[in-house]
Amino acid sequence: MSNRKNICLITARLEKSHGRRILDGIFTQCEKYGYNVTVVSSLTHLQEFSRSFNTGELNIFNLVDYECFDAVILDSITLTEEYSGITIGRIADRIEKECHIPVVCLIVPYRDFPYIKSHNEEIHREMCRHVIEQHGKEKICILTGPKGHVEAENRLSIFLDEIQKHGLSVPNEYIVYGDFWYTSGLELADRLLAGKIPMPEAVICASDHMALGLIEELDKNGVKIPDDLIVIGYEGTTEACLNRITLTSFESNEKQSAAEAVDYIRNIIDPGEEIIPYVSSMENIFHKGMSCGCSPDRDMTSAVFKDSLYQTVRNYNSTDFTDNVDIGRLIESYIFEKLTSSGTPQKCLDNIYENLSLIMPYTNFYLCLLENWLDIDSELIKGYPKKMKMVMASSNVGELDFHSAEQSFSFDTKQMIPRMHEDCDKPYVFYFSAVHFNEKTLGYAVIQRELTCKKTLNLVYRNWLRFVNTALEMVRAKNKYMVMSVKDQMTGLYNRRGMYEELNKMLSNSSNSDKLFVAVVDMDRLKYTNDTYGHSEGDFSIKTVGKAAAQITLSTEKCIRAGGDEFYIIGVGDYDESEIPKRIKAFSETMKKLSDESDKPYIISASIGCCIGTKNSFDETLSMADKAMYEYKAKKKSRNYLK
Ligand code: GH3
Ligand code: MG
Repeated sequence: MSNRKNICLITARLEKSHGRRILDGIFTQCEKYGYNVTVVSSLTHLQEFSRSFNTGELNIFNLVDYECFDAVILDSITLTEEYSGITIGRIADRIEKECHIPVVCLIVPYRDFPYIKSHNEEIHREMCRHVIEQHGKEKICILTGPKGHVEAENRLSIFLDEIQKHGLSVPNEYIVYGDFWYTSGLELADRLLAGKIPMPEAVICASDHMALGLIEELDKNGVKIPDDLIVIGYEGTTEACLNRITLTSFESNEKQSAAEAVDYIRNIIDPGEEIIPYVSSMENIFHKGMSCGCSPDRDMTSAVFKDSLYQTVRNYNSTDFTDNVDIGRLIESYIFEKLTSSGTPQKCLDNIYENLSLIMPYTNFYLCLLENWLDIDSELIKGYPKKMKMVMASSNVGELDFHSAEQSFSFDTKQMIPRMHEDCDKPYVFYFSAVHFNEKTLGYAVIQRELTCKKTLNLVYRNWLRFVNTALEMVRAKNKYMVMSVKDQMTGLYNRRGMYEELNKMLSNSSNSDKLFVAVVDMDRLKYTNDTYGHSEGDFSIKTVGKAAAQITLSTEKCIRAGGDEFYIIGVGDYDESEIPKRIKAFSETMKKLSDESDKPYIISASIGCCIGTKNSFDETLSMADKAMYEYKAKKKSRNYLK
């Protein structure tokens, strides 16, 4: 077991600015204290348009074994974005039931869990100061979030307090509640345009999206921003930077709160140990735009623009090549075609492994699948089984590295991944993401990086994983139909079609002197069992005979259900006639043993006939074996063994 403490962060949609900020705060502190971080995240928004896809995505939260960790940080901001709150409710239920370690929520309280308050008071005051001191505005309207919402009321009261400190007051009609979303900005614009509220000189919005909705509607209706009215927003979103009229916005200080969550935990899990506070600077938090009349922060806009581009061309010579995979390169790699054209499950895993450079940087990467992911009928929607199979590992530091079936191994799912608990020289982050096709769970993927690597799971990783999901499902389906076309569903043995395929393989791998061995097995008195005990007992008897035939089949041979109650064993090799009595004896004994063990009111028996022939005489050898089987059966009948 590792001595390094491990903090689990439960969150969603890491690629957004919120995700990047909280990881920044958490990683910075955990690096100071030498803690590992495990991030368990849905890569999509909790309410993605496709419900079945999201069900599969959210199942990753069921994987968490809280006993693996020293503390949990619940990113209650993103986890409560879902209106129904079902996801966070389920997570919280499990935590309350199973978790005996410290739990802390970020910024938004949830149930009775302790939470770290936002550190935005100074930022909210600065927003007011900017409007009043910088731009000389006095008639100020405030658009905040829903009435009664903790954050909405909190932001409002700070705005009002700061405005009053400047000797100004805000009339009631200028205190407007909204929903933090575009729609309430639009509604306020309509009321202003209709003259229901007199036009103010400035609107301070408690979210960027409300500000953007307001600007769009006012601008459409001829109100000039910033000449007629200035607007400022809050959150520092990409949308604010990229709007036609760029929005002046203040970033929320989520990094600080996330960092304090780690310090809060440290006080509990390492009492008395030194706390090294996180220091944030206002400079990086204020983003000037056109909406207040300041000259826009063009560097910031250009940086955000580049970041948001789906294809950026970078100088791969000057920086670490592997650090720069962008969505354009992912698409242009034809990875989707490479993965989905895999003919077999193993080929698909080989292809995934060979193209792992697309998700660099990583220290280690692991792919864990359900042990029975290829089974025809396997269907798992909720939770994970007790055991998982690691089918692939890739290491850039000389650790576990394989993708072959021989090296794959099963482990207890409780461990999440075995390597996570081993001692490591420096702190790492482990990102867990679901591998699934729509709601159907196939397994999960884990990326391990050094904690100093602040890159989060971005849209390249999310889309790469979508391709992997689809490719695995395609190859699973392909495999399923291939198996169904050559195997008998009831017994799992080869069918006639499969027999010819296997026979051809055996013949092409044989040497000149090899002989052909054929055994024919036919159950005795199946009609009687069917008529007396019912069809399902008949089925059971067929399966038992099939099992006996399979048990005496050598590893170099194939066992076939030829139809009804008839089975064949075929082999190509160095056979001689002494094989025949040996095989008949083995079958009789095995059949008797299985019949006895079945503990049924009837005896399950079958007759067998064997023949050895030349390699190119399959039909003749089969018909001789069939004849021998009937002679054997007739002998039994004449002795009255079979009525
Ligand atoms: P014998 O001892 O001479 O072999 O007699 P038998 O009753 O086993 O008869 P036979 O081998 O000629 O016929 C097989 C019968 O098995 C015919 C059919 O009704 C029944 N049968 C064929 N397929 C299935 C099946 O999948 N399930 C069940 N329960 N019965 C089957
Ligand atoms: Mg029969």
